[in-house]
Amino acid sequence: MLIDTYGRVATDLRVSLTDRCNLRCTYCMPEEGLQWLAKPDLLTDDEIVRLIDIAVSGLGIEEVRFTGGEPLLRPGLVGIVERVAALTPRPLMSLTTNGIGLKRTATALAAAGLDRVNVSLDTLRRDVFKTLTRRDRHQDVLDGLEAARDAGLTPVKVNSVLMPGLNADEAPDLLAWAVAHDYELRFIEQMPLDAQHGWKREGMVTAGDILASLRTRFDLTPEGQGERGSAPAERWLVDGGPHRVGVIASVTRPFCAACDRTRLTADGQVRTCLFAREETDLRAALRSDAPDEEIARIWRLAMWGKKAGAGLDDPSFVQPDRPMSAIGG
Ligand code: SAM
Ligand code: SF4
Repeated sequence: MLIDTYGRVATDLRVSLTDRCNLRCTYCMPEEGLQWLAKPDLLTDDEIVRLIDIAVSGLGIEEVRFTGGEPLLRPGLVGIVERVAALTPRPLMSLTTNGIGLKRTATALAAAGLDRVNVSLDTLRRDVFKTLTRRDRHQDVLDGLEAARDAGLTPVKVNSVLMPGLNADEAPDLLAWAVAHDYELRFIEQMPLDAQHGWKREGMVTAGDILASLRTRFDLTPEGQGERGSAPAERWLVDGGPHRVGVIASVTRPFCAACDRTRLTADGQVRTCLFAREETDLRAALRSDAPDEEIARIWRLAMWGKKAGAGLDDPSFVQPDRPMSAIGG
């Protein structure tokens, strides 16, 4: 098991497959100037599958989420999914993607064993999309979403980040659209993980703002009496159901006490938290021919050192050096 000193057990592994991306979302990446990880530093497909094997067979990991950067840019993705689907025990597998290229790959990913996707889309307006992501690819994302649903990668979840002055007024429109297309919408509060270190608490759209805005058009009833367990999203039934909407309030209502995640960066570093400033190097162990038991031991030790919380409210909080795109959201 991966357990920490507070008794939390990690069963959910986020694997970043690349730090590269074909969008430049303002809350994640700068327009230009971000240094990519060097190719030899990236884990190979074999190394990734080996680490996931160690995690599911020896460390109690039950669910694997591939992310990035943009994971669809990883050439070996379908092969990785296929090999992870053949592991024992077989973990649940999902993918967080910006959706560009999903139209082409959704069927192959489903056939390889991928269970679900989360597609990020912040706006229904092409011009706002272009401003927010600095690329004119709105239609590609919409096409990718449809392809994912048609390929059975369901429930298709949509992640939206609201930014003041850009798409902050779009919450009800996004929800109406998601309900009509049978996507499950989740709003994510903007976190201090942008490469430019420009995040300001005063400037962010909070979960409270989002819910107030949604309630101008929808009747929302809390699902599960506000119990969200380790799931970061608090969920509400929309107009009595069956559709739901989630809000991930990482900043204003952090869920660190129930966190069940461990993270692996594309260059083989274990991170116990999105906001961690320490990392543990598994790549060095892999490349010095360490046996599986030794790698599992290093991973357990990293987990044991997991901090109680992200510490966003702590006056001494310092944003991690890696931006979200290089951590893996
Ligand atoms: N490129 C893929 C995508 O966009 O879905 C996967 C990686 S991306 C880093 C994963 C998720 O993190 C996306 O839903 C994105 O909106 C979210 N994200 C990125 N930067 C964020 C930030 N500063 N605050 C909150 N969410 C952020
Ligand atoms: Fe790329 Fe995802 Fe970051 Fe947007 S949020 S820049 S799509 S990694």
